[in-house]
Order: sequence, then C-alpha cells, then structure tokens
Amino acid sequence: MQRRGIYSITTVFTALGNKIYEFGAKVELDGEMINADSDRYRLFKRDGCKCCRCGLEGQYFAMERSAKDGSYHLNLYGTKNGQEVLFTKDHILPKSKGGTNAMSNYQVMCRICNEKKADKIEKE
Ligand SMILES: [Zn+2]
Repeated sequence: MQRRGIYSITTVFTALGNKIYEFGAKVELDGEMINADSDRYRLFKRDGCKCCRCGLEGQYFAMERSAKDGSYHLNLYGTKNGQEVLFTKDHILPKSKGGTNAMSNYQVMCRICNEKKADKIEKE
C-alpha cells in the first residue's frame, strides 16, 4: 500500500465533521478526495480510537492508496514495542457465525488482538 501522508486524529475527525454521509460521499483532505461513508470512521468516532481488548491507543491516521482501485483511504495506527499496529473494525459476532455488518456488531480492535481473537466469540 502506498502511503501519502500522516494526519492527526483531530485533523481527520475535523475533516469528516459530524455529518451522516450517504453511500459514496467523499470529503477533501490534503487535496485528496476520501470516501466519507466508511463504517470504520463512524466506529472510531463512536467508541474512540482505542482497542477494546488491550487498550492500545490509536495515534494517527495514514492516508493510503488501495492497490485494487487506486483510491485513497485512511487507516488508523498505534504503536506497540516500536512497531506500527493497524486498528480494525472487529465484528463482535463473527460473520462466519452469522454476525451482520451493522454498527451494533462492531468494536474497535487492534490487529494483534483481532488476529488472536480470530473467529472465536468472546464472553465478557
Ligand atoms: Zn489490542
């Protein structure tokens, strides 16, 4: 993935504002048009940029280009032991077990925890 720049969480949330975006809507950030209707951004705003499992804090967004279609999107990252860690939108009930793509079925999780969780259902 080609990286274009690093942006603070505040910068990204300010660019997105408080609107509910329709499918396909875009916002301008640093001269690029970014898809604004992403459930990931909605989730990071709702729950905060923090892993629900280990508490790792997201620190910045990176604007990265999709190898598939060349479009730019923003990925949230934190760091652990000097390594960059991607933040993901985790399905609380995995899709493989009938979980849906609904906001109520999402939680913020770092990639390390997400990989450990895999397809297991966690009991709180
Ligand atoms: Zn974590």
